[in-house]
Amino acid sequence: MGEMGDISRICQSCQAGGPTVRERGRGRRIGVLCGTCWDIYANRRALEEGATAPARADPGPDDVDPYEPPACRHCGALVGHYPTTYDRWVHLALGDLPARDVAPGHRWRLETVPGRHTRVPVGIVAVRVRGIEPLPGDLVRPAHRAVCLSWDAAREAEG
Ligand SMILES: [Zn+2]
Ligand SMILES: [Zn+2]
Repeated sequence: MGEMGDISRICQSCQAGGPTVRERGRGRRIGVLCGTCWDIYANRRALEEGATAPARADPGPDDVDPYEPPACRHCGALVGHYPTTYDRWVHLALGDLPARDVAPGHRWRLETVPGRHTRVPVGIVAVRVRGIEPLPGDLVRPAHRAVCLSWDAAREAEG
């Protein structure tokens, strides 16, 4: 019954039905969208928020290998690599900073994702801080590019 019920859903954006229409959002419910509308939404938001890091495959529940954080290809510093609620990925600094030291567009926070059937958190998502301005001393997690020592130089070189 569950599978059949999904087929009758329609995309909230284009109002079409189809096999790709499903509930979207990682950790947070964003909406019921078809694959095409979801990609448009997620790509636009990724560009706006700077969540343009390559995706990392989800480790399976049996994957116990310690995860090595990737390094920034511009400055070589280790970065945190996190999924967003819209399934695009972002490189964040490994530690928090007071909000006054981070430009508004680069402030993120990490939220744990509760499991569907358990209270045990199943993952972490990165959420861009928006809306209410944090107090100057509130800790936020900067996007790596905001603290990268060579981001601007690298971007100029790339044109
Ligand atoms: Zn659609
Ligand atoms: Zn860097």
